[in-house]
Amino acid sequence: MEKMLENYCIKSCLKLKDDGKMRFDLHTHTTASDGSYHPKELIVKAQSIGLGGIAITDHDTTSGLEEGIKAGTDLSIMVIPGIEFSTDWGIDEVHILGYFIDYNNKRLLKLLNVLKRERWDRGKKIVGNLNSFGLKISWNDVITAAKGGVVGRPHIGQVLIDNKSVSSMKQAFDLYLGKGKPGYVSRFKLTTQQAIEEVKYAGGVPVLAHPGLLKQSEIVKDMLVWGLEGIEAFYPQHTRKQQRLFKKMGESYNLVLTGGSDFHGEKRYSNQLGSIAIPLKTILALKERRGGKQYYGNS
Ligand SMILES: [Zn+2]
Ligand SMILES: [Zn+2]
Repeated sequence: MEKMLENYCIKSCLKLKDDGKMRFDLHTHTTASDGSYHPKELIVKAQSIGLGGIAITDHDTTSGLEEGIKAGTDLSIMVIPGIEFSTDWGIDEVHILGYFIDYNNKRLLKLLNVLKRERWDRGKKIVGNLNSFGLKISWNDVITAAKGGVVGRPHIGQVLIDNKSVSSMKQAFDLYLGKGKPGYVSRFKLTTQQAIEEVKYAGGVPVLAHPGLLKQSEIVKDMLVWGLEGIEAFYPQHTRKQQRLFKKMGESYNLVLTGGSDFHGEKRYSNQLGSIAIPLKTILALKERRGGKQYYGNS
């Protein structure tokens, strides 16, 4: 464990401690999930735009972390091991980020295997649905688009774009892949409580991702008793008003205020790497919460 910490933080944190100007993007995706950059490419890009470091937070997988951390060590870019779990809570799909997770934790790896298999089976069913609907799309092309990472709907969307069935990712979701559309298949997801707890079991710090995308922001309060430690107040799609609201909410609940761009690559989404960048002190605050029980109601 200590050796792993050395790699991504201790040395670089100490080196950077006095430089208040360094900026960090705490929400990024790689080809391990639905991003278009390989982990190493992402680190090179982070370096080229002057970031001090990033957190890699792929959906339901940690398989990009080792490559990313190695590249970070080589290039003196801090790489925080992270994850982003998709969870269900009533009408909302709630995303929970986990920072500083022990990505070799056996319990975590077992869980991620189950989620990977579920995504695989679901992807196959979606392709079957689309074929029965008359669209030509092969499962092999989807696997190729996923570049060895976990299969998600954006990969299927990418194949539909490539074979000219649709002209954009938005159209792929609007016509075929979104809820209620011909290709849609629901997916097994953790509950929000389970995701928060699993992040903690893996020694990580659970943070609510992009609360501005929730339909019911009052549910944040319920997450506190499960051990939520932070809230992603700074996010490209948050309005100024939302940013103020989540800042206030986070402060009153004693949560770390985090932020990140949710970068997936230039092609698929407009969010650009480093468009939201936060200071080192936020990372140090997150690190202090590892294994912490400083949440509301138990301080
Ligand atoms: Zn998300
Ligand atoms: Zn994300």
